[in-house]
Amino acid sequence: MRLQGKVAVVTGAASGIGKEIAERYAQEGAKVAIADLDLNKAEMTAKAIGKNAMAVQMNVTDEAQVEAGIAKVVSAFGGVDILVSNAGIQYISPIEDLPFAEWKKLLAIHLDGAFLTTRACLKSMYKRGKGGSIIYMGSVHSKEASLLKAPYVTAKHGLLGLCKVVAKEGAKHNVRANVICPGFVRTPLVDKQIPEQAKTLGISEDDVVKKIMLKDTVDGEFTTVADVAEVALFFASFDSNALTGQSLVVSHGWFME
Ligand code: NAD
Repeated sequence: MRLQGKVAVVTGAASGIGKEIAERYAQEGAKVAIADLDLNKAEMTAKAIGKNAMAVQMNVTDEAQVEAGIAKVVSAFGGVDILVSNAGIQYISPIEDLPFAEWKKLLAIHLDGAFLTTRACLKSMYKRGKGGSIIYMGSVHSKEASLLKAPYVTAKHGLLGLCKVVAKEGAKHNVRANVICPGFVRTPLVDKQIPEQAKTLGISEDDVVKKIMLKDTVDGEFTTVADVAEVALFFASFDSNALTGQSLVVSHGWFME
């Protein structure tokens, strides 16, 4: 029980990686808030976890909803110890065809969302005086670029900068900040982009997986939601400023520092 007595907010926790992290945190004794755009799915996830979980309707790009959502968690669970800023989307397009609206939407979800949830949680953490852990869901695309993913690569690189500032500002309050950088994980986000990439590049779906997604891994394997949750648990339970301002790549060796 490595998170006994802790309260965690996980955004985008109604699906994929966020859902697995929320479940893992709850198994380790944490109370978890499933914050997601999709309230129905968030409620189903919270219900499956049980009494130590609550669903929170939250569009992470909406300042009022983020403030209200975090206030609701603080009031129900007594504070926030851990934020996992995880909500995200993907958009596949070469830059010359990329609509400005899609560029802005993606950056808003990844970057405005990270900023707004961080700010709301930091205010609460500083006031409470018990420190905390802020975890951003980066990607190998925080370190590398790929074709057709300009806004995603831009946003994921941006999270590294935000993390480092939070690490510096948060230190005197014992608040740490770190980034997880997964390789490809089979979630709805990835399942959707396989046929999109196949169409845009004029290759088969099998070739998208083998020749693009897993080409540079050491063993041709996908990273799993469980792998990412394990790293999220490590960052959440590491209780000193010795580990802050860092990013950890979990990608079957696709990217090596
Ligand atoms: P997913 O599509 O399974 O889940 C994303 C969740 O975010 C959904 O529940 C969705 O409703 C929610 N969401 C979307 N927009 C939102 C908003 N505006 N406000 C609140 N919630 C919103 O995707 P996933 O693969 O689990 O991705 C989670 C995170 O992991 C993302 O930040 C993604 O970029 C990152 N990531 C994923 C992979 C991968 O291969 N799947 C790899 C590296 C990083």
